[in-house]
Amino acid sequence: MSPLITTAVAATREAIAQAKGRGLRVGFVPTMGALHEGHASLIRAARAECGFVVVSIFVNPAQFGPTEDLARYPRPFEKDVMLCANEGVALVFHPNPTVIYPPGYKTVVEVRELQEVLCGASRPGHFGGVATVVLKLFNIVQPDLAYFGQKDAQQARLLEQMVLDLNLPVTMRICPIIREEDGLALSSRNVYLSAEERKHATVLYRALEEMRQRVASGERSAAALVRIAADLVAGTPGARLDYASIVDWQTLRPLDVLSGQVLVALAVYFGATRLIDNVLLEVKD
Ligand code: AMP
Repeated sequence: MSPLITTAVAATREAIAQAKGRGLRVGFVPTMGALHEGHASLIRAARAECGFVVVSIFVNPAQFGPTEDLARYPRPFEKDVMLCANEGVALVFHPNPTVIYPPGYKTVVEVRELQEVLCGASRPGHFGGVATVVLKLFNIVQPDLAYFGQKDAQQARLLEQMVLDLNLPVTMRICPIIREEDGLALSSRNVYLSAEERKHATVLYRALEEMRQRVASGERSAAALVRIAADLVAGTPGARLDYASIVDWQTLRPLDVLSGQVLVALAVYFGATRLIDNVLLEVKD
């Protein structure tokens, strides 16, 4: 069945209030559209736990820098609605930017420290835009559960912190990264890659796998692991390292020696296209 499509806040709230009135649990999957199997996996996780699944499709201007790809970000809305219909989504919220940021809009959310490192260092203002829109979407949808991908690990960690700090009545679910057969993490931005770049883009996964194996065989030096990743990227045609970082999963602060829950994160440019990937490791001392 086709999902209900809403563009206004009031109509969205009304449909969700009705579902809650029928005793249904509301699951929410926020997206920027151009939906793929990664998004579908979040929708399936939501469907498994919730009787009423809401997907938002909103390319959020506030999380793009001035030189980033806001204008050319893919927006295949009809195809997205078909995927939502096939996955049993009840409601697609598809607002215009002026619905979310009307003239005179002033408020932003900051998650201090967590927003400044990793991708936040390369993309100033990005996570303020993310946290602000997700808080607004939570207030509009008022979900019982919300589903995010480990693909955007820093985003997931920062939003969990926001939910905790602001006492938001929503349960966060972080779902595993969905990959192509050759290991490339699915991303709406993969369509920007040329055939040649696409071939070499597996370097992120290969580097993460190499680092994971080194840790499994006893390597605990962050510098040694980062060097392995940097060398692999440097040896890949067309690839340019943005960062390779090994951080504590709670604080996102860099580690010298790996211990506890450790996030190994990579960002690599192919031309103007920036790809990210990561692996979360449980490191025994
Ligand atoms: P986006 O549309 O890129 O803003 O992503 C919407 C949600 O889908 C975010 O929670 C992402 O982390 C998640 N997501 C994107 N790609 C993947 C993937 N390959 N595997 C799992 N989740 C993903």
